[in-house]
Amino acid sequence: MALLVQKYGGTSVGSIERIEAVADHIVKTKQQGHSIVVVVSAMSGETNRLLDLAMQVDSRANSRELDVLLSTGEQVSISLLAMAIIKRGHSAISLLADQAEILTDNLFGKARIQHIHGNRLSLELEQGRIVILAGFQGRDIEGNITTLGRGGTDTSAVEVAAALNADECQIYTDVDGVYTTDPRIEPNARRMDFVTFEEMLELASLGAKVLQIRSVEAAGRHNIPLRVLSSFKPDHGTLISYEQNTMREKIVSGIAFNRDEALIEVIGLPNSPQKLADLLAVFAKNHIEIDMITTKSQKSENIDYAITVHQNDFTQVLELLESEKATLGFCSVCGNEQVAKISVVGVGMKSNAGVASQLFTALANENIAVELITTSEIKISVLVEEKYLELGVRTLHSAFALDSEEF
Ligand code: ASP
Ligand code: MG
Repeated sequence: MALLVQKYGGTSVGSIERIEAVADHIVKTKQQGHSIVVVVSAMSGETNRLLDLAMQVDSRANSRELDVLLSTGEQVSISLLAMAIIKRGHSAISLLADQAEILTDNLFGKARIQHIHGNRLSLELEQGRIVILAGFQGRDIEGNITTLGRGGTDTSAVEVAAALNADECQIYTDVDGVYTTDPRIEPNARRMDFVTFEEMLELASLGAKVLQIRSVEAAGRHNIPLRVLSSFKPDHGTLISYEQNTMREKIVSGIAFNRDEALIEVIGLPNSPQKLADLLAVFAKNHIEIDMITTKSQKSENIDYAITVHQNDFTQVLELLESEKATLGFCSVCGNEQVAKISVVGVGMKSNAGVASQLFTALANENIAVELITTSEIKISVLVEEKYLELGVRTLHSAFALDSEEF
C-alpha cells in the first residue's frame, strides 16, 4: 500500500462530467489499497474569470483581496469532487489550505510554502478518508489567505507529498506525459517513460505547458518521484525522478528550443577584464538577463562578443549599447532578432564523448550554421537562424535516435 498525492488540473475537473470521471479514477486507486491525498485546481477558466472581475473593479487591485478572490475557485472544485466520491460510497473530505495548515510567507500572489503541519492530513488519512485539498492557496502567519502564483497547484501537490513523505506525486493533466520534443514541430516525438529531475529542469520549455517548473525543483529537493499522466486516459505517463540504475540506452533524452532569443554582437571591445565587466554592468543595471555569451574572435587588442538576450529586450539593448559606445570604447554593435536556440539535453552526456561532434555533423549535413554554442554537463545549446529552427530540431531528433523505440 502506497501513499499517493494526486493533482488534478483545471481541465481535468473542468465540468461535472470530468469531476465524475476523476472521482471514478480516485475510487479505483483507493480500491487498490492506496491512501490518497488529492490536490485540485479550480475548474478550467475559473481563475481567469475571477481575475477579470477584479480587473473590472480595479486594474491594480489590492493584492491581499485579490488572493481572497482567486482562492475561491479551488473551494468550488474540492467540494464538488468530495461530493462525487462520497456519492460513490467512499469516505472523503475537502479541506482548504488553512484547514490543512499550509503556511506560506505573505507575498500575496506569489507566496512560497514555508511549512505544512501534516497533522490534520494524517489524521484524516488514518480514518481511511480520501482527502481533497485545495491547491494554489496557503495561509500566512497572520491568517491571511495567500496564493502561490499561476499554476501553483503543482507546487502545492509536491509540497504536500514532501510533508507527508508520500511515495509518489502524480500530476494528472490533459496530456499523457512529457515528450522528447514538441510534437507540433516533430510529429515523431515520443513520450518519455522516464526523465531525471535535472534533465526536466533543462527541458523546462517542453514541460512548461505540462507542469510548473518550480514544482520540479521542489520535487528534486525533497526527492519525491513525480509522474505526469493524463486524467483522460491514465496509463504510466512520464516518471520524473533521480537517475535509476536501470539500463539507459539513450545519451540524449530530449530536445528543447526557444524562439525568443535575440543576438547582440559587440565588435572590438578593448581586451581587458575591466572592459568586459563594464559591458556586463550595462545589462545588469538595466535588469536585462543575458542567456548565452561567448567571444567571437580574439585579436590581441580587441575582442568581439556575442551575447543573447530575450527578444523583448533587443531594441532597448541596442540603444543602451549605442549610447555607451564611447565610454566602453568598442567599435560597433549590431544584432539579429531572427535567431533561435536549440538545446540537446541528456544525463548520458556526462559519460559519453562525441555528442557535440555528432550534433555538429548532423547540423552541417543540413547546412545549418551555428552562430553560438554553450554547454553544461548535461546540455549543449546552439543558436541558429530562426528559419532553421524546425529543420534543426527534426534533424537532431533523428540524429540522436529519439524517434525510435525506447526499452
Ligand atoms: N487555479 C490556479 C490557476 O489557474 C492554479 C492552478 O491551476 O494550478 O493558475
Ligand atoms: Mg497547470
